[in-house]
Amino acid sequence: MFEYQYEENCLTGKTILITGAGDGIGKQAALTYSQLGATVILLGRTVNKLEQVYDEIIAQGGPEPAIVPLDLKGATKQHYIDMGQTIVEQFGQLDGALLNASMLGELTPFSQIHEQIFDEVMQVNVKAQFLLAQGILPALKLAPKASLVFTSSGVGNKGRAFWGAYSMSKFATESMMQIIADEYEASNLRCNAINPGATRTSMRASAYPAEDKETLATPLDIMPLYVYLMSDDSADINGEVLKAQ
Ligand code: NDP
Repeated sequence: MFEYQYEENCLTGKTILITGAGDGIGKQAALTYSQLGATVILLGRTVNKLEQVYDEIIAQGGPEPAIVPLDLKGATKQHYIDMGQTIVEQFGQLDGALLNASMLGELTPFSQIHEQIFDEVMQVNVKAQFLLAQGILPALKLAPKASLVFTSSGVGNKGRAFWGAYSMSKFATESMMQIIADEYEASNLRCNAINPGATRTSMRASAYPAEDKETLATPLDIMPLYVYLMSDDSADINGEVLKAQ
């Protein structure tokens, strides 16, 4: 497990956007960032899940979050531009963004990959991340130290049989991260990616339905790396893919 000891208020005063904040790793990251003092912007497609996270944050005494209901499958460039502008109007700047939402599609032999599922996976995991990143860059550039974090996977730089479009999309994610990191080197913005490793969520359960979930790390277990990359302690880290476990 990635080890990082952090102070109780290490994210105080920061505004952090989390995509896929209604479930799994994104939900836990939202709760943890808020607990450490950040104001979180919860982006996801299922409003009642986002509302539950909102309620949990208020119940734990965190700063009031914002909710952005958005389906990455259908969202257009204009949605992301508007979102970036609204963030600047409401919060003045964006200190961090965790681009966490993605879809698995189907695990299937290469010869059987459906064109429609390929397109959906590329839309949600690649094109939406690209447009979203473009949309929030102006807000990130206004923060003194900003952190943009993509989410990769064990199949994000080494292809594996049957992981099809998902693996290809994670390669593209790592490339996007490296391009941004290189272009913004020596600026206020750093850009990195996390490989969470096997984690107990519904995505993992659909990839490995027969495995014993009790053997897996929970989203809470992997939070040290998620906190590290949002805290100022990682200000000098740029262009890396770090493993949460
Ligand atoms: P989950 O499926 O548990 O959560 C994914 C989240 O993304 C959900 O909140 C989901 O929303 C949201 N989401 C999916 N599609 C869209 C969409 N079209 N528009 C908006 N939101 C969407 O996955 P994990 O928490 O397991 O995964 C988080 C990240 O970690 C992913 O990028 C995944 O690839 C990566 N990862 C996970 C591993 C694991 O073992 N769990 C291992 C390696 C990488 P909703 O709740 O509405 O469905």
